[in-house]
Amino acid sequence: MRKKQFKAESKKLLDMMINSIYTHKEIFLRELISNASDAIDKLYFKSLTDDSVKLSRDDFKIKIDLDKENRTITLTDNGIGMTAEELENNLGTIAKSGSLNFKKENADSDKAEDISVIGQFGVGFYSAFMVADKVEVVSKAFGEDTAHKWVSTGADGYTIEDCEKDDAGTIITLHIKEDTENENYSQYLEEYTIDELVKKYSDYIRYPIQMEMSHQVPDPEKEGEYITEITEETLNSMVPLWRKSKSEIKPEEYNEFYKNKFNDYSDPLAVIHTKTEGQATFDALMYIPENPPYDFYSKEYEKGLQLYSNGVLIMDKCSDLLPDYFSFVKGIVDSADLSLNISRETLQHDHQVRIIAKAIDKKIKSELAKMLKNDREKYEKFFKTFGVQLKYGVYADYGMEKDGLKDLLLFETSADDKPTTLKEYVGRMADSQNDIYYACGESAQKIALLPQTDAVKEKGYEVLYFTDEVDEFAIQMLMEYDGKHFVNICKEDLDLSTDSEKEAINKKNEDAKDLLEKMKNALDGEVTAVKFSNKLGSHPVSLSAEGYVSLEMEKVLNSMPGNNQGVKAQLVLEVNSNHPVAEKLQSADDETLTKYTKLLYSTARLIAGLDLANPTEFSDTIAELM
Ligand code: ADP
Repeated sequence: MRKKQFKAESKKLLDMMINSIYTHKEIFLRELISNASDAIDKLYFKSLTDDSVKLSRDDFKIKIDLDKENRTITLTDNGIGMTAEELENNLGTIAKSGSLNFKKENADSDKAEDISVIGQFGVGFYSAFMVADKVEVVSKAFGEDTAHKWVSTGADGYTIEDCEKDDAGTIITLHIKEDTENENYSQYLEEYTIDELVKKYSDYIRYPIQMEMSHQVPDPEKEGEYITEITEETLNSMVPLWRKSKSEIKPEEYNEFYKNKFNDYSDPLAVIHTKTEGQATFDALMYIPENPPYDFYSKEYEKGLQLYSNGVLIMDKCSDLLPDYFSFVKGIVDSADLSLNISRETLQHDHQVRIIAKAIDKKIKSELAKMLKNDREKYEKFFKTFGVQLKYGVYADYGMEKDGLKDLLLFETSADDKPTTLKEYVGRMADSQNDIYYACGESAQKIALLPQTDAVKEKGYEVLYFTDEVDEFAIQMLMEYDGKHFVNICKEDLDLSTDSEKEAINKKNEDAKDLLEKMKNALDGEVTAVKFSNKLGSHPVSLSAEGYVSLEMEKVLNSMPGNNQGVKAQLVLEVNSNHPVAEKLQSADDETLTKYTKLLYSTARLIAGLDLANPTEFSDTIAELM
């Protein structure tokens, strides 16, 4: 018997793989079970057309045996098996030429890193070497007379010899490594670990995965004592809920599945179950939680859907399947399209995954749109919890996703105590109204009290109340809705007056030029201008902003960590020309004018929700004037 070397590149790849590709050693079991399941599939399909296969559907199974004493795990399947040649070709070369060529044709040559190249090969079987220092494969191909035994201790080669085996199928024995300081390999010899791993990764394999399990049961002969009973158990449930048709599934089943799988105490707010065929064929079962996951706002939170290939879990959190704005969605995706040419560890770069992700994004959006239309109350509840994510989605990536999201947004409004969509707002707009008006603030109540809000409402126009920090940023990104621009009513250039009103106020400002200049100087660079205004209703003063940065944006930007320079909105102090205070200003001497101006400016800041630089001075001046 001659020892054969692995093909040169295989050897190198094998070393790299063992050391780096798979971060979780436990996935070796999933890999071997998947191979066994594939092999059974092949024989099962053969049995449908070939009478010489004596097995029926119920005979197919995968068996796991643990031998703690000899430190072995044995996996037995009664699938199609391998000939000597197949053992050599399939297990002796990592990079089978077939998949290698496929990869070469499809790779962006400059981008395909070594690691992702390896990932494209069928390295699944080799993951056994992450936990075993010796692997034996006894296999008999269906229809052959002889069986063969393949043995390898890892990177330095393998042997093949004839051996005895009655029926077709494969028996793989892993000799588990000794424990090291960092690695507890013995755990893989424990029944409960294997049980757990099967349930975690291979629950939905279509064939039973059986193992002898020991249980402590009361001794029938001696009261109070226990004996060990050994029973053969099927570890996997075999039926994926998502593969069943919707009409067969009760709402409780959906909810129970969700709570078990995603560790939530509450039922989900919404279930999205979809079977998609076309460019990508997949089943998806997704959930919108009622509450944010407990770690949702922490750095540790990872978005993603569980990804299955034909019932086999290949990734626990496939983040590429979900856009950030849907990061709260939980669920699973199962696609047969993924099984062949991609590694289970590196498929995030896969084309197919991108197509599925796109379809999922569309599906979630359409489900939300449906909820908005048919179950407004539920949608408002959803939006209260997760709406801000959608707003960030509008703003993110330079607004790339804004069109798909804009009709899912809700805002508080002066028209109603229920939130409104932009579409509804535009539908209510008066004929004379050209723009969509909004104002920002901490809460709807506070915004409603702004002098500017009064003035706009008096004209009969509705104002959107932006209470989330991201609102105005999102809206800047949106720029317009249905051809209507967004206008911040606290910006200086908002002007709702008629031509003659404009003329009158311009004249007032012109006449009071010196006075206003003195007031501006009194504020020592705090404002870019002081102006008389006719849009403040009964209120004496307000602050507005000129240019791009609004007051609210200034607050948000300055609250961000690492922003030391301080972004400044360009402020304009507006004084109501119709208010008695205007006359007081005109008749004041210079010293009093300075005091009045500072007072007015301070009160305007308070109304706008800004801090005072010197509250003590403010208080002292008021007391002095009193
Ligand atoms: P992949 O499954 O991704 O193709 P593997 O390295 O896991 O890569 O397996 C290589 C090949 O070996 C499989 O494609 C299959 O042809 C063969 N093989 C592995 N395990 C078995 C098995 N239990 N029964 C029959 N064939 C097997």
